[in-house]
Amino acid sequence: MKYAEGLKKLGNAILDLLFPISCLVCGSDGTYLCEKCFAKLARLEKQECLVCQKSAPYGKTHMDCVSKNTVDGSIAALSYKDRDVFSVIRTFKYNFVSDLARPLSTALIQEIHNQNLSDYFTDFTVVPVPLHSRRQNWRGFNQALLLAEKLADKLSLQVDNKLVTRKKFTQPQTTLKAEDRKRNIENAFTITGDAANKKILLVDDVVTSGSTANELAKLLKQNHAKEVWILTAAHG
Ligand SMILES: [Zn+2]
Ligand SMILES: [Zn+2]
Repeated sequence: MKYAEGLKKLGNAILDLLFPISCLVCGSDGTYLCEKCFAKLARLEKQECLVCQKSAPYGKTHMDCVSKNTVDGSIAALSYKDRDVFSVIRTFKYNFVSDLARPLSTALIQEIHNQNLSDYFTDFTVVPVPLHSRRQNWRGFNQALLLAEKLADKLSLQVDNKLVTRKKFTQPQTTLKAEDRKRNIENAFTITGDAANKKILLVDDVVTSGSTANELAKLLKQNHAKEVWILTAAHG
């Protein structure tokens, strides 16, 4: 074990020499996102209901909007429309920079705190939005799982990475128009664990229209989940 850790450290040191790490925003050395730039990343001014897209206090889906086919609430930390946030999330997702899971999860914890929800999620199970196995094999990791693990750690919750599986290979939602997103994601997931009576905290890097979150919530509630929320680093 120690030997493997030593090798990993050595490997990282060599990688750092070959590809020096620098802040994605200001270019300063040593980290992918320096403290200053992290503090300045564009936070969301308000939380949105993932059904009507209007402002939602505490991220809770409106009483008139919530149903067995929707999430019960959604919290996002950063604005995906901001250039720097966009670049940080893209790098996290497509350039395999797993180190960014830490600051992104910290931003989310701060927002949960801002919304006075710190004590709300104590009995929830954390479930990363799954990737299709084909995409995960190609990418080597699921960025939602990395984020989920960091969040679960900070919230002292358990991660269940086996509860739902993506069976349909879909086009990335961000490449589609809003009206096509719902159809693209329909029946994309299948239940592979026991959701009965559980409160579920879905985790993903970005939420846009909310189609993916609501599709998963529908499936989980059909399988008797008690409550389903989604936490995302950014809102598009
Ligand atoms: Zn910086
Ligand atoms: Zn609403």
